[in-house]
Amino acid sequence: MLADMNILTQSPTTEHTFNGKHFYLKRDDLLHPQFSGNKARKLMTLLDTPLPQITTLISYGSPQANSLYSFAALAQLRGWQFEYYVDHIPQWLAEHPQGNYKAALALGATIYPTGQHPTSAMHPCDHIQQIRRPDESCLVLPEGGRSDIAQPGIATLGDEIIDWCNKHQIERPVVALPAGTGTTALYLHQHLAAHQIEVLTCACVGGESYLKQQWDMLAATSYPTILSLAQKHHFGKLYRENYALWLKLYHETQVEFDLLYDPLMWRCLQNWLTEHPDTPLIYIHQGGLLGNVSMLARYQRQYADLPSGRHDG
Ligand SMILES: *Cc1c(COP(=O)(O)O)cnc(C)c1O
Repeated sequence: MLADMNILTQSPTTEHTFNGKHFYLKRDDLLHPQFSGNKARKLMTLLDTPLPQITTLISYGSPQANSLYSFAALAQLRGWQFEYYVDHIPQWLAEHPQGNYKAALALGATIYPTGQHPTSAMHPCDHIQQIRRPDESCLVLPEGGRSDIAQPGIATLGDEIIDWCNKHQIERPVVALPAGTGTTALYLHQHLAAHQIEVLTCACVGGESYLKQQWDMLAATSYPTILSLAQKHHFGKLYRENYALWLKLYHETQVEFDLLYDPLMWRCLQNWLTEHPDTPLIYIHQGGLLGNVSMLARYQRQYADLPSGRHDG
């Protein structure tokens, strides 16, 4: 079972330098050993909302997603069954379960591939609607928790940032965090805009227009600021620059960042920081470290010439 949930808010904020630039780091990776990062913030309301009719949580996405693990932790905590639908499970992962996939299975998740059947292959989302047909005992959540249920948990994160800035007399800071669905960045922006705190983000999945579409689906009326690189960036692809930056970040801060989203945000921030040398920066560590296991193994194989793993400094 998961341990006491009382420590689920008030993550610490630490201070670091990277590339000669000072920044603050909001450590949402430290919220809770099994329920941390932005997925925990997004699902926070579901921890204690009374939902007596619900017995089963259902969602879909990648079998390596950080959200898979967080959904599984939530379901276990609530005593719900958890069904997760994926297009397919890569053979290497099925043979050597690791990371989020392995940890979700250990928490009791049942994972169904729906995209490979010779005659009835379907997108996981269609499979849920047309074959699984959830009834009122099921809570169905969109991929990655892109839903307005995420808003209150992220507002709490925003309040923690505001309180911390007041306490430490940090004036007009910017907050930076990379976006997947963009849910976290958008709700944080909505909460912080009234406090004159700008939110910077970058589109890790599908580029800027995809990100704006995601925001429009959440009924956005204004957007966070999007930073980008000159060249196109593909989600999940191995980039030497990303790995080198991630190693350097680890070396300089002794903090392990996520390998999938954080390197792009930090690369985008390099130019921004040069242009805004006096603006205090608060970076949000959104967790995701279980997902690093397989990414790091791929990077180490591909770029064996770089000083390898995270633990040899
Ligand atoms: C899920 C995730 C993101 C993206 O969050 P969105 O709310 O979908 O934008 C960023 N970083 C990490 C580590 C994540 O797990």
